[in-house]
Amino acid sequence: MQEFAELLARVEAAGCHAGAAKVADIQFEPAFRQACESNACGNYGKCWMCPPDAGPIDELIARAKGFEYALVYQTIGQLEDSYDFEGMMEAAAVHSRVSEALRPVFASAGFSAALHLGAGGCHVCSVCAKKTNEPCRHPDLAMASLETYGVNVSQLAKLCGMKYINGANTVTYFGALFFNP
Ligand code: SF4
Repeated sequence: MQEFAELLARVEAAGCHAGAAKVADIQFEPAFRQACESNACGNYGKCWMCPPDAGPIDELIARAKGFEYALVYQTIGQLEDSYDFEGMMEAAAVHSRVSEALRPVFASAGFSAALHLGAGGCHVCSVCAKKTNEPCRHPDLAMASLETYGVNVSQLAKLCGMKYINGANTVTYFGALFFNP
């Protein structure tokens, strides 16, 4: 396994801030699933990696807790104002590209087991196969979000010395690699 500091530097070189936490210190909240059910993001039931298709929340939390550490990364997007929906979508797309860029970085880290979680629904396909009632096209690449696994992202940010909110007219997204060395 490469040195962890070297890995963090490689993650930051992909265009984000990075930190780390012990999974035992992370708060998981099954109640977050109710927020998904309110479908504010429009992805509920429309993506294989989102609830309810991603699986029962207790099983997902147990899976995440099976890892020892989390390498956390954060991207911050600038908005014209707090109603700048296009800016939020563009910032989400930038975060998704960073998540994709990190795949080979994480794959080369030599961890014995890992789970990569991003932000929002899975972004691998332009239209998720769930919407057309087909099986997932890329189960090996599909990525769920931290929220889908019940991670309290605000608390996770604090654990890693990051801000959850980064000032007026910004939007912040998080991703993390849960891993066992
Ligand atoms: S890989 Fe494609 S089909 Fe599978 S969950 Fe992601 S977007 Fe949907």
